[in-house]
Amino acid sequence: MKPLLLILSLLLSIHPLAARPEAWMEPFPPHKIAGNLYYVGSKDLASYLIATPEGHVLINSSFEESVPLIRASIEKLGFKFTDVKILLISHAHSDHCAGSAEIIKETKAQYFVMEQDADAVENGGAKKSRIKADYTQFTPAKVDRRLQDGDEVKLGGSTLVARLTAGHTRGCTTWTMQIAGLNAVIIGSPNVNPGYILVNNQDYPNIATDYERTFQFLKEQPIDLFLGAHGSYYDMNAKYARLGINNTNPFIDREGYHRYVEDREQAFRTELAKQKTQ
Ligand SMILES: [Zn+2]
Repeated sequence: MKPLLLILSLLLSIHPLAARPEAWMEPFPPHKIAGNLYYVGSKDLASYLIATPEGHVLINSSFEESVPLIRASIEKLGFKFTDVKILLISHAHSDHCAGSAEIIKETKAQYFVMEQDADAVENGGAKKSRIKADYTQFTPAKVDRRLQDGDEVKLGGSTLVARLTAGHTRGCTTWTMQIAGLNAVIIGSPNVNPGYILVNNQDYPNIATDYERTFQFLKEQPIDLFLGAHGSYYDMNAKYARLGINNTNPFIDREGYHRYVEDREQAFRTELAKQKTQ
């Protein structure tokens, strides 16, 4: 191999890990969002705990390396990690589901995944994906229940609703729940990642119409508590800093939600138009 090629291939091989933003692995104070809904993720990789008298629901296992951090956050709040009974995810990318096998091993939790992402989760991701990035591959985990759009997940008096918001992945899931009289929406991801093919995509022919449906759904959704798969979707760090000031809940942010959804829809439409002219 020529020296330049060797350097290039070395750079490419280390790139995926090097590309992980620091905030993904940085601990963050766990906190109550509202009612029995808590944030137990890192500075940007969001995990949520719904704590109930019959055990807990955990959304997003993040990376394998994130599991001790999630566990510590749950314990800091005074709950037991081993009381996690149901594990859910935002979508089948490593930054939200790579830690699932480890969490299931440690807690014996049941794993519920949207039907359209369940094969990827059980196979360890899209092996023949054209997108060369580490987030498409991860440790596989067995799915106990395959969810359909609108399915309810119930535990100890709490109900979460799985809403299919596909495009980012085929089974990308937005979780909604009524909590303390508020509508919580945990957005799965409305983002078009670099390298995504929106026009004539052989692997995923309906990708563009799926995004269209996702934006339609997100715009119509009743919303009070704006949350998402990454803290950065809803400006979590800044809102956390305002927690407890003036007795207001900074996570109630209808305007911010609609601004975010509109901005992401615009980004999708710009990319779609660009790819159509290529
Ligand atoms: Zn993703």
